[in-house]
Amino acid sequence: DRLVDPAPIGRDHSNDNDLRPKRLAEYIGQQQVRASLEVFIKAARMRGEPLDHVLFHGFPGLGKTTLSYIIANEMGTGIKVTSGPVIERQGDLAAILTSLQEGDVLFIDEIHRLNHVVEEILYPAMEDFQLDLIIGQGPGARSIKMDLPRFTLVGATTRTGLLTPPLRDRFGVMLRLEFYAPEELVTIVKRSARILGVDIDDEGALELGRRSRGTPRIANRLLRRVRDYAEVGNHRVVDRRVADGALNLLNVDRFGLDDMDRRIMLTIIDKFQGGPIGLETLATVVCEEKNTLEDVYEPFLIQSGFLARTPRGRIATITAYEHFGRKPPGSARM
Ligand code: ADP
Repeated sequence: DRLVDPAPIGRDHSNDNDLRPKRLAEYIGQQQVRASLEVFIKAARMRGEPLDHVLFHGFPGLGKTTLSYIIANEMGTGIKVTSGPVIERQGDLAAILTSLQEGDVLFIDEIHRLNHVVEEILYPAMEDFQLDLIIGQGPGARSIKMDLPRFTLVGATTRTGLLTPPLRDRFGVMLRLEFYAPEELVTIVKRSARILGVDIDDEGALELGRRSRGTPRIANRLLRRVRDYAEVGNHRVVDRRVADGALNLLNVDRFGLDDMDRRIMLTIIDKFQGGPIGLETLATVVCEEKNTLEDVYEPFLIQSGFLARTPRGRIATITAYEHFGRKPPGSARM
């Protein structure tokens, strides 16, 4: 398991639940998303109607699941949580839909991974709150139609482009979650520290905020590891020195990069003169799957300005040269 993986690993599931803010007002950052939701929730409540279907998109660990719980809380309704790959057959989804109460939130994580047969059930359910199911095959097949309670579907995905257009079109609200600024992560770390009973000072929280890759889940995970380090070392307060010592030991550098990130960047800089290098070649040299490189490692390296994609391949930026203490090549680059 990768310590800076933005997706849940190890005990993260219970971790995440313990630390989730429950109300919109407690949710930190994502100003625009919050402001939009506040208006939509208020309007829906005033009309006494369920909220329109909402699609959240953004990287793992940025708070999509948390927001769906918040929507249910603010609307005063129940919530059912599932995910795209878990719903294998039409019947599975039909069972979930028929168990909903009026106004409930149905949260489907990784909604782009629903198979298309299941997805077809979702269209009339989202549009007309109708269940439209064919049971059996051939001449004996029967069609079942049923009214469903009005509900709010909240879908989460990494990119809206992964959804089929008919599914995408059925969401009334689409909101994109951004990476968090270090100062916002500081607030999140302090809040989590309070809940977990960890004594952390401003500089300690800032050190964690800077090294958490813009992602609350990573910030919370690192906080727990730093707490272990502080307890074992008999440090009463997590200050900058303690946070720094712990994170260095965990191989998370001052920008939140880990060993694999460093290997990727140093391969490009040292072995390929900074690029451009094709994804395939890069994958072979660092012994990683092409898709994993593209989906897991590259987004953060690009986002933090270390790596750039060009039509001719990947290149290391001046920022990367500086961060890794290498002399940038002639002024021709970037
Ligand atoms: P996602 O569904 O996008 O993968 P989650 O909603 O599960 O992410 O969030 C992961 C963790 O980060 C949870 O513990 C959650 O409490 C915390 N978190 C996410 N966003 C925020 C936020 N804006 N404020 C405080 N904590 C947050």
